[in-house]
Amino acid sequence: MYNASAYALGANRSCIRDLFEYGRARAAVVGPENVFDFSLGNPSIPAPPQVNEAVREILADTNPLLVHGYTSAVGDLEARAAISRDLNERYGASTVPEDFFLGCGAAPELTAVFRALAVPGGELLVQAPYFPEYLPFAREAGLIFRPIPADVPDFQIRLDALEAMLSPAAQAVLVNSPNNPSGVVYTRQTLTALGKLLERKSREYGHPIYIISDEPYRELTYGAEVPFLPLIYPNTVVCYSYSKSLSLPGERIGYVYVPRQAEDHRELYAAIAGAARSMGHVCAPSLWQKVITRCVGLRPDLDAYDRNRRKLYEGLTEMGYETARPDGAFYLFVKAPGGDAAAFSERAKKHDLLVVPGDGFGCPGYFRLCYAVSYDTICRSLPVFRAVLEEY
Ligand code: PLP
Repeated sequence: MYNASAYALGANRSCIRDLFEYGRARAAVVGPENVFDFSLGNPSIPAPPQVNEAVREILADTNPLLVHGYTSAVGDLEARAAISRDLNERYGASTVPEDFFLGCGAAPELTAVFRALAVPGGELLVQAPYFPEYLPFAREAGLIFRPIPADVPDFQIRLDALEAMLSPAAQAVLVNSPNNPSGVVYTRQTLTALGKLLERKSREYGHPIYIISDEPYRELTYGAEVPFLPLIYPNTVVCYSYSKSLSLPGERIGYVYVPRQAEDHRELYAAIAGAARSMGHVCAPSLWQKVITRCVGLRPDLDAYDRNRRKLYEGLTEMGYETARPDGAFYLFVKAPGGDAAAFSERAKKHDLLVVPGDGFGCPGYFRLCYAVSYDTICRSLPVFRAVLEEY
């Protein structure tokens, strides 16, 4: 006997993983340089050199029992203090170290927050397009997942649609900016209007509707402002990750921040820590907590992503592809010629061009490109994009 929904999740690979595996198999046949794989969101710039230096120094200078030992369940106070200081300096915030919970990346942090907010019949409203894993995370946590229809073609937040969907069952609204898959950054104006709407509705329902801000791409912007949401709406829980900002997705390190000003702050923080505990997700990797303490002020060198972004965006729009404004992350979200993104993806596969249909992101009719690839791949892929387009 085994759990049926866990089985279904384990047995069925995501469409992105399928494409990635397909790309590997094709690479073995036609050579890796002839496969244009834009499927997986894996950073293509290395971690800043100071990160490796910090690892070497910590291993050389620190008692191994401390480096490899358990930390406090919610994370070392030193690391939490460094993160808190950094945010206060950058945003003029007034965070305190005790309000941070160090986690193993945004994915388990989100599941802990979802579980902490899961009350019977409780709803999670998520703006489409969205990271597909939110759906199983929410469902397994016991929250009802309610996608907000996409705001085509700008991909901001559809406040009118959200307002119509809100009810006393609303526990939280999930915001992901810079956005995967659209690459769009929500403007301060959009976020301020969202905050006002949720304030009004929270008052009306007599309980807070939290914002859950999923921020693995916060530092990946090319000029656009990414406001610190707790300063706009205090009932915001931040899930942050160093997977993309420091190119450390395999090291599993990030944090949850629950602002002191949030309603039921103490209880909510305890519920998140408790939910994480119930999943055995405590004591984030000790070595990486120490690295973050030293490297918290580092920002990624975005030149390579920016160069790819410009080349791909300009190349595709010149050909006639339509795409959302890619101000952040490392994705382009493109309208599928012919209107059927799955059919476009299949057609592109015949040219060894791998793109992810938007259906899994809650936005059919568009496909996602991850441009965290080499510049050479971008340049050589453009004639292939043209060839696929010419088939329409
Ligand atoms: N949220 C979004 C929007 C993502 O794109 C990803 C990973 O791609 C995650 C969360 C999970 O990130 P992590 O590696 O920190 O678990």
